[in-house]
Amino acid sequence: MLRQYELVERVKSYDPDADEALINRAYVFSVNAHGSQKRASGDPYFSHPIEVAGILTDLRLDDETIVTAILHDTIEDTVATQEQVEALFGKRIGRLVDGVTKLSTIEAQSDTERAAENLRKFLLAMSGDIRVLLVKLADRLHNMRTLHFIKSEEKRRRIARETMEIYAPLAERIGMYEFMKEMQTLAFQHLEPDAYKSITTRLERLRAGDGEAAVERICEDLRLTLGAHGVDAEVTGREKHPYSIWRKMTERHVPFDRLSDVLAFRAIVPNVADCYRALGILHEKWHMIPGRFKDYISTPKRNGYRSIHTALQYGEAHRIEVQIRSRAMHEQSEFGLAAHWSYKQHDRADGQAGWIRDLLEILDTTENPEELLENTRMAMYQDRIFAFTPAGELIALPKGATAVDFAYEVHTDLGNQTVGAQVNGRVVPLRTQLDNGDQVRILRSDNQNPDPGWLTFVVTGKARAAIRRYVRQQEREETVSLGRKLFDEVVARLPAKIGGEATKNALHRLKLKEESALMEKIARKEIDDRELMDALMPGAGSDGMASAVPPQRQSISIKGLTPGVAFQLAECCHPVPGDRIVGIRRRNEDIMIHAIDCDELANGDDADWIAVTWGDESDGGTAQLRVTLRNEPGALAIMAGIFGTHGANIINVKLETREGGFHSFVVTIEVHDLAHLMKIVAALRAADVVSQAERV
Ligand code: MN
Repeated sequence: MLRQYELVERVKSYDPDADEALINRAYVFSVNAHGSQKRASGDPYFSHPIEVAGILTDLRLDDETIVTAILHDTIEDTVATQEQVEALFGKRIGRLVDGVTKLSTIEAQSDTERAAENLRKFLLAMSGDIRVLLVKLADRLHNMRTLHFIKSEEKRRRIARETMEIYAPLAERIGMYEFMKEMQTLAFQHLEPDAYKSITTRLERLRAGDGEAAVERICEDLRLTLGAHGVDAEVTGREKHPYSIWRKMTERHVPFDRLSDVLAFRAIVPNVADCYRALGILHEKWHMIPGRFKDYISTPKRNGYRSIHTALQYGEAHRIEVQIRSRAMHEQSEFGLAAHWSYKQHDRADGQAGWIRDLLEILDTTENPEELLENTRMAMYQDRIFAFTPAGELIALPKGATAVDFAYEVHTDLGNQTVGAQVNGRVVPLRTQLDNGDQVRILRSDNQNPDPGWLTFVVTGKARAAIRRYVRQQEREETVSLGRKLFDEVVARLPAKIGGEATKNALHRLKLKEESALMEKIARKEIDDRELMDALMPGAGSDGMASAVPPQRQSISIKGLTPGVAFQLAECCHPVPGDRIVGIRRRNEDIMIHAIDCDELANGDDADWIAVTWGDESDGGTAQLRVTLRNEPGALAIMAGIFGTHGANIINVKLETREGGFHSFVVTIEVHDLAHLMKIVAALRAADVVSQAERV
């Protein structure tokens, strides 16, 4: 067991300003509080909190954390009270100890709710102070180291499973790989004793052959090979830990001998450029094993991990895994939280690995740790919440994030297929904002598509971008299908049948690559009927064929104006013959003809109003309609068909909103007059797919 002075010396070695007296007082308090309590091992109980504190000195944590570790079981397991701890060690340590105590209380609760509840509270505590989580992880690690002393197999298995499912992933998530590996190895040993035994036996046999020597030999070979090509590398090698070997065997269904993961090597090189050079050198000399290459430098893992992974066929006997990384990446991955803050500069623009670096900064103990901890303590988490997948994966989100944001954060496909959400077991509306610690289950369906209405409540850029991308895609598809409809109408007016060849030639003439691009241009009226006819059948457009096109604003006359005076029909209200109208005259402008109920007229500046009416023969005008269609296949084509049968030329179609099962379009059409327009509106309203049609 770690002695009092040894513990103090360890802390002092990395933090000379640590409060020695505080640590000593905690030591004595803990020893007294735990008194004659015993561990399952038969050791005095207080050896446990002291060992936990010792584990945390490896992470070079500040004196408050060390003291919290020493005191972490006093309130839960002894007569000591929260008030006592606070009085003796101050409010801050009191709060930390309380945090760890709460976690332990939850741990002791009934089996059913434990996993989810634990996770939730963990994160709640964590968003209060990361040090609580670190103490808890060290506590669990020490309990795992001494797990074999516990007599009940059932209890050992329960604790091991919990470690495997909750604590090891948490350790991994915050980048503490050493913690993770040790927890997994110990838990594996208790959960799968037979597999553990067979793997360790095989590892021993491998070592007895030339295993251990092989590691040394291959290390040297890799180092010399890289060195000969000018890459200065530090190469280390090891056997993979048993759990990771077992997981690979079960995941990939390969026997032990076929694993390339048993011997793993790590080349640490000076910088990123050397990483890629080293990769090239190794692949040139040894065959790479396909399917095993991963570049986590260009695409870091979520927790910020960066490295290149590859596997090589090394001679006949060995398949080896090689990780290549720079010194900076190495330190970050090995020490996780405690790694140096300067790696912050590698933060990626999308902030994906940002939070781990926030933690790095908080826990950087090389420069005035207390102040740093005090000043930055979780301030950066005030705008964050943490939620969990059903599998216990931690998802960090900005405050205000909803179930939809959560789904997109997990995976874009999941977001796109979201139909509902359960938060802590209850079905909730998708717009529900998540709270810290919520466990979220996303209900998905292959038939679901993103709802543009989600844009009104999602807060993450990822969700927003994915929904927009989908909406744009949909709009394009609709535009193309409208264009195709118009295309078919034009084709029908041509004297001869138009086959695929003619269409291909037309594309060529119009300098377009794809048919869909042509359809889009037709729908957008960027190609008019005449051009299209000419392209399909040269000469057809100017051949009088195009005269079948409805008249375009042919003959408008306005009574009440001096003959010859220039006028325009206003674009805001789109009056058509038959509408009651008024003329507006401003200096140096054409007279504008507005509908009498046009909103623009309310802006009554110094314009002159002129009483006007339509000329007797007036024919033609553009009108805007807002048409709401049910979201059904072919709805748009039916709408276009109605305009077609009534001889109304479509000038523009714009998707306005898409909500629930309805799509609302603003359509600009050319009509003869008001009566013509009313007939069209009536026809639209009569159609099943049209839920609403009205003039804008
Ligand atoms: Mn404990």
